[in-house]
Amino acid sequence: MQEDLIVGHVTLTHGFEFHLAPATTPDRALCGAAVTPTQIPPMFWGVDAAIEGRWCERCERAARAAARAAIREPETVGDAPCV
Ligand SMILES: [Zn+2]
Repeated sequence: MQEDLIVGHVTLTHGFEFHLAPATTPDRALCGAAVTPTQIPPMFWGVDAAIEGRWCERCERAARAAARAAIREPETVGDAPCV
């Protein structure tokens, strides 16, 4: 089961930087940055037209790794019997 993520932002001198944070700790991003939670749906993550700012690369990698792990976990293909 993948953890629910929310989009948080950090205010920079010019614009914003957006991070992903677990819904359980919405003010602490996956990369460790302190963020302010936003109402941006996580499905818009990586869509440049949706925001004025940039997406945190460390959070993106962390979220991708978590998604891959969530997909891989239920598979037990190696146990299939030979017929
Ligand atoms: Zn981040």
